[in-house]
Amino acid sequence: MDFSLSSEEREVRDWVRTFVRKEIQPLEQEVLRRERAGQRGLPADELRALQLKAKESGFWGVQTPEEYGGMGLGAVMTALLEAELGRSFVPFRFGGAADNILFYANEEQKQRYLLPTIAGERKSCFAITEPGAGSDAKAIRTSARRDGDDWIVNGEKTFITGGNEADFTMVFAVTDADKHREGRVGESVTCFLVDRDQGWRSEHIDTMGEWGPAALVFEDVRVPQENVLGEVGRGFELAMKWIGRGRYMLPARALGACERLVEMAIEQANTRVTFGEPIANRQAIQWMLADSAVEIEALRWLVLHAAWVVDQGADSRHWQSIAKLYGGVKANEIVDRVLQIHGGMGYTRELPVERWYRELRLLRIYEGTDEIQRRTIARNLLKGHASVSGTLG
Ligand SMILES: Cc1cc2nc3c(=O)[nH]c(=O)nc-3n(C[C@H](O)[C@H](O)[C@H](O)COP(=O)(O)OP(=O)(O)OC[C@H]3O[C@@H](n4cnc5c(N)ncnc54)[C@H](O)[C@@H]3O)c2cc1C
Repeated sequence: MDFSLSSEEREVRDWVRTFVRKEIQPLEQEVLRRERAGQRGLPADELRALQLKAKESGFWGVQTPEEYGGMGLGAVMTALLEAELGRSFVPFRFGGAADNILFYANEEQKQRYLLPTIAGERKSCFAITEPGAGSDAKAIRTSARRDGDDWIVNGEKTFITGGNEADFTMVFAVTDADKHREGRVGESVTCFLVDRDQGWRSEHIDTMGEWGPAALVFEDVRVPQENVLGEVGRGFELAMKWIGRGRYMLPARALGACERLVEMAIEQANTRVTFGEPIANRQAIQWMLADSAVEIEALRWLVLHAAWVVDQGADSRHWQSIAKLYGGVKANEIVDRVLQIHGGMGYTRELPVERWYRELRLLRIYEGTDEIQRRTIARNLLKGHASVSGTLG
């Protein structure tokens, strides 16, 4: 068994590590300052400039296939890279990416949606959640009815990331009410590519995080048949492909955040003196650091293992759910300990700990809550689809 990185993996990882240290981390104080003033931490033009800088070294479209100008990296490599990006809270991501399901577009749709998204000229958002349908995505009620060659979409989506900035959405609507009622969701839901100027509107939702998702409102929005992504009635499959595209990526980012947070806690423990001694001398503090180190190590291998299963082309859902659940729970425990070690300063907005505390909370909710991951894991075990012996058999 070999737990070491290949020379290529090390090279890519090291390049990103240096980029984060030299280009991203120096922005942190300014990002915090702007956010305290109620502004966007990293405005779109500054994000774009950083993305173009990374592109000069070939870092563009990390998972985008090479035929579309991307790097076409596999899951392990992507996980390594996400963990490095996670070492800063600055909301940076590499350019050249597009939602995985946009690659199912036909040639004409690719020209209108996929290629401009990769180029960074258009922004998409993925809209399935509704006020009455979150974990239970099959309960969606947004509808699309036929009218000649068009579809008329009505309904409301909620908590849509990027919904305020997007100029088109991939929206999921019921196109066969009878089948939907019978629970035949694999035949009743269709995905539509809908431009904002076709008539939907977004409403900002204020959250604990620094950026707000949006509610999307569709009132008699007319969408031509040529905007159906994939096949009529087969949209739910696409939605599951989007959600399942890389659950290992969220805990990978959290892994990087936890590493950085614990490094900050070590520094604080060694320098903060109370009752004549550094707090690092106290067992209460040492145990918090030790538990965090153990959990970070476990998280690293759960994330890399889940990514490795993806790269093997095997069914990875069980392993991704395990990594996502553990990452969400443990990252929240770790950031809480790190905040505690910083005392009152940890609670201020001068340090990034408080910001990370708020941001990491989301990990336990979106792209499948803790409870939904547990449901998936337990079902797989009870039905014999996975065993506690793991992939070693
Ligand atoms: C900031 C943010 C960004 C998001 N971005 C997007 C996006 O881009 N696109 C999109 O479509 N959606 C998005 N979502 C929606 C997100 O995926 C849902 O919020 C999430 O799936 C949970 O659904 P819900 O909020 O309706 O909670 P509910 O499903 O109502 O769940 C409420 C509670 O009940 C628990 N629960 C539910 N069912 C069960 C069960 N069977 N057994 C045990 N416990 C259960 C849940 O775990 C949770 O604790 C986003 C959400 C947030 C907060």
